Amino acid sequence: MTLDADVAAQTARRRTFAVISHPDAGKSTLTEALALHAHAIAEAGAVHGKGSRRGVVSDWLDMEQARGISITSAALQFTVDDVVLNLLDTPGHADFSEDTYRVLAAVDCAVMLLDAAKGLEPQTLKLFEACRVRGTPVITVINKWDRPGQEPLALLDEIEERLGIVPTPVNWPVGIAGDFRGVIDPTTGGMTQFTRTPGGATLAGRESIDADEAARRHGPDWTQAVEEFELLTSSGQSHDQDTFLAARTTPVLFAAAVLNFGVAELLDAVTTMAPPPGPWTDVEGRPRPVDGPFSGFVFKVQTGMDRAHRDRLAFMRVCSGRFERGSVLTHAASGRPFQTKYAQSVFGRERETIDEAYPGDVVGLVNAQSLNVGDTLYAEDKVTFPPLPRFAPEHFAVVRPRDTGRSKQFRRGIQMLDQEGVVQVLVSDRRGAQSPVLAAVGPMQFEVATHRLEHEFNAQSVLEPLGYAEARRTTRAAVPTIDAKHGAEVLERTDGTLVALFSDRWRMGTIAADLPEGSLLPLFGTE
Ligand code: GDP
Repeated sequence: MTLDADVAAQTARRRTFAVISHPDAGKSTLTEALALHAHAIAEAGAVHGKGSRRGVVSDWLDMEQARGISITSAALQFTVDDVVLNLLDTPGHADFSEDTYRVLAAVDCAVMLLDAAKGLEPQTLKLFEACRVRGTPVITVINKWDRPGQEPLALLDEIEERLGIVPTPVNWPVGIAGDFRGVIDPTTGGMTQFTRTPGGATLAGRESIDADEAARRHGPDWTQAVEEFELLTSSGQSHDQDTFLAARTTPVLFAAAVLNFGVAELLDAVTTMAPPPGPWTDVEGRPRPVDGPFSGFVFKVQTGMDRAHRDRLAFMRVCSGRFERGSVLTHAASGRPFQTKYAQSVFGRERETIDEAYPGDVVGLVNAQSLNVGDTLYAEDKVTFPPLPRFAPEHFAVVRPRDTGRSKQFRRGIQMLDQEGVVQVLVSDRRGAQSPVLAAVGPMQFEVATHRLEHEFNAQSVLEPLGYAEARRTTRAAVPTIDAKHGAEVLERTDGTLVALFSDRWRMGTIAADLPEGSLLPLFGTE
């Protein structure tokens, strides 16, 4: 097989996706269930019994060593029916930060996980918005169906009304939330009945029964499920691959991840519906064919918090060609060579070794001192991919050097953190260069910033949170009006964006009334 044909074939087998959800919806549980399930079916359908979880994890380590594939917390890779799934982690909870959004710039599809009782929650909405801006197709999973929750039709209405995307059920639950019997299988018109398997087994018991048998066993629950499902499909709410890929419809599945119910169905949906990696568009709007020479971009940089190990790990999504460890790539931003072999052999542990990778895969590049978020690496034909978008910050704090004698180190540190995308840096003449405002999506970004200022740049800092809750992009003409008001000010981000900050929505509303239309715009997305 020629290199191009190999790359084309490998690309076609790949599905790169992330799970977007609000904390506690069950993302970790689902991730584990997907990976364990994939692993279990890879083992010729072997069903693991109690206590097998540990075994599976160590199997992964063996797999990593045997195949030279890295399984890091940033990306899990597993194979199902000859399809290679790359599941990228979207940090949530206390780890929610700009990185969480950036991960979404590196996937081809997202799985939106909802809690059946809670429906759409704030973090889900934000992450969905990041998907919408990129036109990423979204598969919806309604989780925790084994617990009391909302009506399925009400959940679908909420999705349609609040997200403006048409939900198209792929299956439909038999039994209300809290009494999950199984799902309608539209491919047969029958039912997949789920049974609990004891003690943390990796596969749910699944039995396919025909409609008559389902009616006999589940009576009114079956009838109601069929009626609801038919109501939706007859009004046009059935899966359509084109509208899904265009992000106008979202296939919906029902699950109880903790019981492994619906997990096989989701794996099936991801492998059959999620798109394989396609050509990635460069800064000039030209698509880079997947089977062209190698290219990739960095979507996340992780710096060791430990002073003794100034390691810097850059996570790169492969966009085209075959990545081969040891090859020398070009760093588009500097034009300098980037040695993949040197980096790996000096700092790489076995866990981090990747011998080869294809479009859609994630490669962890160690010792990546020169790489920043958004950077492109390529071989042969030069290419630069667009910078990653900046996201709307929600936390703001003034930062100052603790010791004014160290202000040079402090300024250099702030500049580096800004370039690396650790935090956004906002300045104004009014506040002066010694007291920039740091802006973040999640407060953890501040912790990382002050820690690194102290340990890497030898500049201890003092952080003073600012009571702003709203941020908008504004125009130069609006600056004097906004700056003259209480509870508001305008600062400039280093990319030139003028960012207006307001203490609250009400304050913003009254100030907006004194400004010409269009003076306050969303910083990101279509909020
Ligand atoms: P994350 O914060 O989204 O990663 O959520 P976790 O996976 O940590 O799950 C949060 C809690 O919900 C845990 O206690 C899980 O055991 C529980 N959970 C997850 N999935 C289900 C489910 O399908 N049914 C029920 N009843 N509980 C679940």
